[in-house]
Parts: sequence; structure tokens; C-alpha cells
Amino acid sequence: MPALPPGRWRDAARATGLLAPDGTVAATVFAEMSALAARTGAINLGQGFPDVDGPSWVRRAAVDAIAPDAESGANQYPPGPGVPTLLDAVAAHQDRHYGIRLDPATQVLVTTGATEALAATVLALAGPGDDVVTLEPFYDAYAACIALAGARHLTVPLVRDPARPGAPLRLDLDALRAAVTDRTRIVLVNTPHNPTGTVLTRPELEAVADAARRHDAIVLTDEVYEHLVFDDAVHVPVATLPGMAERTLTVSSVGKSWSLTGWKVGWVTGPAELLTAVRTVKQFLTYVSGAPFQPAVARALGDDTFPRELAASLAARRDLLCEGLDAAGFAVSRPRGTYFVVADGSPLGFDDGADLCRRLPALAGVVGVPMSAFCTPGSPTAVALRSSVRFTFVKKEPVLREAVRRLAALRRA
Ligand SMILES: *Cc1c(COP(=O)(O)O)cnc(C)c1O
Repeated sequence: MPALPPGRWRDAARATGLLAPDGTVAATVFAEMSALAARTGAINLGQGFPDVDGPSWVRRAAVDAIAPDAESGANQYPPGPGVPTLLDAVAAHQDRHYGIRLDPATQVLVTTGATEALAATVLALAGPGDDVVTLEPFYDAYAACIALAGARHLTVPLVRDPARPGAPLRLDLDALRAAVTDRTRIVLVNTPHNPTGTVLTRPELEAVADAARRHDAIVLTDEVYEHLVFDDAVHVPVATLPGMAERTLTVSSVGKSWSLTGWKVGWVTGPAELLTAVRTVKQFLTYVSGAPFQPAVARALGDDTFPRELAASLAARRDLLCEGLDAAGFAVSRPRGTYFVVADGSPLGFDDGADLCRRLPALAGVVGVPMSAFCTPGSPTAVALRSSVRFTFVKKEPVLREAVRRLAALRRA
């Protein structure tokens, strides 16, 4: 077999902890844990995808758009920026929910999921010599994209408040002020936040906005969980903060809020000049995708009922899993949004989350993902969260009940 070739893929692998010192490349821990669940019959609370599909009327709209029995289907290349009905629907959605006014013709770009929107933006705007600042822990694709762009990745930790055990992690504001400098091209935030379930507060986001304005950086905000907030938490889009619309690119997608993660239809919105830069890169990554899905997503975006009901049912499922993890002996940080909860295994005597995850199927018939998968290898945040595991609660209630029943074995062990 030929040796693995050099190239920036190595930087992406290194940044995500996949490149071993001997030059071999590991599978992602997500794939490893899903394979472990499949092999052992453990309940997979690792990878975060719903086990119930999104609204049937939205799925029907996609079938109708393919039009298998007619010759009028949406089966050829759609327009580069996206189909007009979806551009209009995204603009209407931003206005209706947040009062953000956008010109659908110049300020909305449809992408292959949020992932492509994020990748195209980072590749368009950052390169060697530039810093991109993200929160830590972070969604693993961020580190990979930043490495592919050749930029430097700096992070701002989300930290536990010792005075409030069980509360969601909070942004370290001093670290934020230290990380953002004149070298910073992009501050990439994610709220509601995967993997912690933290919903950034208005003061936290104002600190981000303040740092970005002071150093003339662009804010790239990943809001794919925008509708999935619980209790009295409120999602504040960065673009609604004073003076921020002109320097913010907002990313979301249909996947999480409408339980259609496999459709990979996303969008990025913001100032026309910034979108021109992003669109130029997107043009040569995928050009376009999802022609029959786009009109169906346009219809989904007009309906607020499904995401609202999903958020309510997720809040109840969060309660179920958090109580079970707590009863099993984990220290739980109760999330205010998303699909995920972070549980610390150290009270149970586990100081290494990756090791715990590998043993969990045998110990309790459940699979999670270690928090180290969302950290820069060896970073202070990786150390602070070393004993923690992310579990998803976007599974049917009986599945979660069974998981909770099994997890109780840990306490007895
Ligand atoms: C799932 C997820 C994405 C990817 O969204 P797609 O639309 O599937 O590309 C991006 N960011 C975060 C934080 C996610 O959890």
C-alpha cells in the first residue's frame, strides 16, 4: 500500500486528534463509539441524530418535488444561491423570529448543510497568518476547517462554575478578551452550544460582539439549534446585537430543528459583500445541492409548530436522562438547549472519559462520546473536561428509560 500522502488533510487530522505520532490515522471517536454500540447491542447515546423523522408533510413535499411519475420534477441543478422560494423563506424566518431584515437576493445563501456554510466561510475569510477564535469544547468540524484554511485556531473555554454545580458551563470572559486580537479574522461562536447545551446569554454575546468590534473581526455564528431551547432560556442571534449585523454571518440548517439531519440543507445570511466571498468558495466546493429538498425546506421554515413541539418534548427527555445520569452517580451539567447533556464520571471514580466510554457498553449497555473529542488535544479545557462524557437525549422516551435503567448498574458496580 502506498504511504499516506502529505497535505493539509494531515493538519485537519492532527487538529482533531486523529493523526497518531506514528503517522497513522484513527477513525473518529464518533465512528468508533457507533461501531462499539452496533457490536455490543448497547444503546447509542453517542452520535446526535433523532430516531424519529421530521414532519411527514415536509418529507411528502420532497417526494412531490422529485415527482417520480411526472416530468416536472426539481431534479436538475437549482440556482447557485438556492431556489427563490427557500431564499424568501429564510429571509422571512429571520424577520419573523428575530426582526432581522434581509434581502433574499443578496443576503441569503443556501448551502450543503450548516457544515458547508461554515467551511466555505472559514476558507473564504481566513488563511495563514490569521487567527480564528472558537469556543472550547467545539464542534469537531471547526478545528478541521481552520486547519484546512491554514489559519491558527485559538479557543475560549466554557467553564464550570464551582459555586453552581449542575449549572450549564459559562463563557470565560477574561479568556475571550485575551484571545481576540488584531490578528483575529473570525470569532466563531455556537449558541445553543454543542456539546455542552449552554445557551449563551446576552451579556456573554455582548462581550463577543465587543471584542469583535474592537479588533475588526467577523463573527461567524452557528445557530443550528436556534429553536431547541428549554425552560426560560432565550436564543439571542448575534446579528441582533447593536452594530453587529454588518459584521456577522449567521449559519443554520433544517437538520436539527426539523429532525431531518440527513437532508443537509443549510444556509448562511449576512451582509452582501461578505456573502459574495462565501459564495465564491461555495461555488467551487459543491456548486449546488439538494434541488428537491430545497422547496420542501422552504415550506418547513414557514411552520413554527414542529420545532416548538420538538423543543418541549426534548426538554422532557432531557429531564429523564439527566435524572437517570444523576441517580447513576454522574455529576450532570443540566443543558438549556440542543440534543446533549455533559456528565462528569469522576464522582463514580472514572477520571478518563474516553476510557469510560470504551467500557460503558460492558458496564451499563450504553454508549456516549468523551468530551475530549470536542477539545484541542492536551488543552486546559481538555484537561478540565477529561472525565466528562456527552450523551444525547434525542431518542424515543422508551429508549431513554431503558438507558436510564441500565445506567443504574454503575452505582451498584
Ligand atoms: C449538527 C451540527 C452541524 C452540522 O449541521 P448540518 O446542517 O448537518 O451540516 C453544525 N454545527 C453544529 C454545532 C452541529 O451540532
